[in-house]
Amino acid sequence: MRKHRIGIAFFYHESHSFSPLKTEIEHFRNEGYFIGDEIYDAYTGTKTEVGGFLDVLKKQEDVEIIPLLCAAAIPAGVVSTTAYSIIEKQMLESIRKAGRLDGLLLALHGAMVVEDLFDPEEHLLGKIREVIGLHVPIATTLDMHANLSAKMIDYTPLHFGFKTYPHIDMYEQGVQAAIALLMQLNEGISFYAAFEKLPMIPPSINMRTAEGPMSKMIEWAKQAEEDDDIYNVSVFGGFPYSDIPMAGASVLVVSLYPQKGEETAKKLASLFWSVREEFIMDLPDVREGMNRAISLADDKPIVLADISDNPLSGGSGDTTELLREMVHKNTPDTLFGGLYDPESIEACRKSGVGNKVSLSLGGKISPEFGVPVLVEATVFALSDGIFYNSGPFNQHLKVDLKGAAHIRVGNIDILLIGRPMSANDPEMFRHIGLEPQAKRILGLKAKNHFRAAFESIVGPIIYVDALGVASNRLTTFTYRHIPRPIWPLDEIQFEVEQRRKETWRH
Ligand SMILES: [Zn+2]
Repeated sequence: MRKHRIGIAFFYHESHSFSPLKTEIEHFRNEGYFIGDEIYDAYTGTKTEVGGFLDVLKKQEDVEIIPLLCAAAIPAGVVSTTAYSIIEKQMLESIRKAGRLDGLLLALHGAMVVEDLFDPEEHLLGKIREVIGLHVPIATTLDMHANLSAKMIDYTPLHFGFKTYPHIDMYEQGVQAAIALLMQLNEGISFYAAFEKLPMIPPSINMRTAEGPMSKMIEWAKQAEEDDDIYNVSVFGGFPYSDIPMAGASVLVVSLYPQKGEETAKKLASLFWSVREEFIMDLPDVREGMNRAISLADDKPIVLADISDNPLSGGSGDTTELLREMVHKNTPDTLFGGLYDPESIEACRKSGVGNKVSLSLGGKISPEFGVPVLVEATVFALSDGIFYNSGPFNQHLKVDLKGAAHIRVGNIDILLIGRPMSANDPEMFRHIGLEPQAKRILGLKAKNHFRAAFESIVGPIIYVDALGVASNRLTTFTYRHIPRPIWPLDEIQFEVEQRRKETWRH
């Protein structure tokens, strides 16, 4: 029996148009760059999309897995044209070299932006289609924050967005995509996509799926999936920091009958629009947040989340507004981290564990969001910065901070790290001997993903409205390319039905 040859690939970046940190090829090489068989070592057994692809395909006797290329970098500024070109070239070469492919599984993000390309994922799919032809099935996984464009649907109806935020179902969506691809291959099932784009860029702060408006949307999506004709529903919140014409929220319904899919997509898009105001949150400023944390009594640590500098939303991880306030208040049993500051780590290394050192902390990349904090610190511990996530978010995945240092300034323990990284897993602290659970106040460079691992060990969580590129206040950004009018920047009238009619007329 001739085996189905199914390629797997991964190209992942969430690009922040307003971040000063451009994403270069070394950022992909440092984070995750695997070619061919290296992909098995990196992703087998991980709760990632590729882990899901592999688990499904390995069980099929009639499938030969063709591992192609995986390239991922953590969210930051736009991807340089050079970096994108290198990866695209290598991706297409690996597909060409693979020879005949019967199917392709692609883990994408959906909010990548390249210097001279607004929609690189759509561009990549077009290039891939040129190589493998129009009829080889492709299925992708996409982040909930994808700024999906209608053109992506032209290349394949099979896109599977995450249904959780924090994203703890990457693996499950990888499994879903692989199963759908096999259904199309083995059973000849035809899938149809119905797509509705909404004129809105909701802030992500209140997009969690445990509560709030997105939890309602996901609940409605799951209800719609109970219909046998509806195979999958994705609700995309979009990524509001990508300044591109295709920015914004959308709904994608994969169905077995086009009309049913269209009706479902329209209905869900209307519901999405109707809950939009619930995405807006008013947050305390740094001083108010800190005072609130001090006044609260809880037997578990109180978290101050420095959301505006969350590295996974494109933050540089080195802004200083919250750090400065914490150092100033000097409350016992406070832990802050991780602060991206390789220069200070180097100074700690030179000085050695147990010694005092003068440091100029953070504020080096975007001093407009807070100048460095000058401190006298004691070096408590140094590490290579390598740990494995305890999960559930990206469980078992290796994380390399490129060095770390635990310092103490007054009563404050501070974790310095060698590259921007959200404090999404307690192992980031534990690997160097810091126990977050033992603290009274935690200042974390994080937004929402950290909840997956931290929620069970912390008490109240306070989001603070500090300065930074991942600020909740979208009015602080000067957009040039997003479609206008768009909510919440503009007050607009919009009805799903009405817009469709207008679109048809043109
Ligand atoms: Zn996301």
